[in-house]
Amino acid sequence: MDLKKDLFNDTENETSYYESYLDQKIENKKLNIEKNSKKYSNKKIKRNQVCPCGSGKKYKNCCARIEPKSPLEYYFAKIKDILNNYTDSFGNRNNHLLYETLIKANKDYPLNPVLTSMAGLIALQLNKPDEALEYLMKHLRLMQEKTSQETINMIVSILSIYSEDKEAEKILKDIFNYVDYPIQYLVSADIKFRLKKDDIAHDILLEGYQKSNKEIDYLNSAINLLKEKRQYKTAFNLLVKDFYRFNLLDEDSDFNEAEIADQS
Ligand SMILES: [Zn+2]
Repeated sequence: MDLKKDLFNDTENETSYYESYLDQKIENKKLNIEKNSKKYSNKKIKRNQVCPCGSGKKYKNCCARIEPKSPLEYYFAKIKDILNNYTDSFGNRNNHLLYETLIKANKDYPLNPVLTSMAGLIALQLNKPDEALEYLMKHLRLMQEKTSQETINMIVSILSIYSEDKEAEKILKDIFNYVDYPIQYLVSADIKFRLKKDDIAHDILLEGYQKSNKEIDYLNSAINLLKEKRQYKTAFNLLVKDFYRFNLLDEDSDFNEAEIADQS
């Protein structure tokens, strides 16, 4: 798991997914998005409920008060137009223009999962991690357990470079309320190490390793993290325990799976 490399690929994949979504070419994921959009369409949220946008205010005092200046269709058409017709001289997407439009669209429709996700992805491509995090967390609260693993990877990648560890801890706790992927454990452990909570970090790493079904990539990343934090003893213990698995790294994957099944 190379977080930075994966981050770029994930962002590109998710962005092109949403481009196809606007062109109505995608069926499966679309159903989830539309189901969740309906769930959070204005009528379904109780007025005294905490607003899903994450402001901490009651819905009636927050997003319920917003009066959109333009219809949702207007924004979708405009975003499609920018994607199709406004490229720079290299033929790349005009992310600045796109992001400007997405900010306006999100002000009018803060509880739309497509708009929150696209704004987060483009913010990330424009190298605005704080803004990206805010939009992607909104998207998570809207999609909940249906949030894609790519989105979670992006969120935790941002958290892993985040300087506010206490805040990052809080955000991770929020993520665990909805989804539970092994990569969240790696980043949690990283943050706990930075906060000098080594014992907790060790436990979290092991828990994540189990959670990943002892995936070799996870083991590799965990060892790298332990080495980086100079936790040689823990790294050594983990390696000794599962040493045989490192012989599997260069073999073909069918063989690996048979071998792992045999040994576990
Ligand atoms: Zn709100």
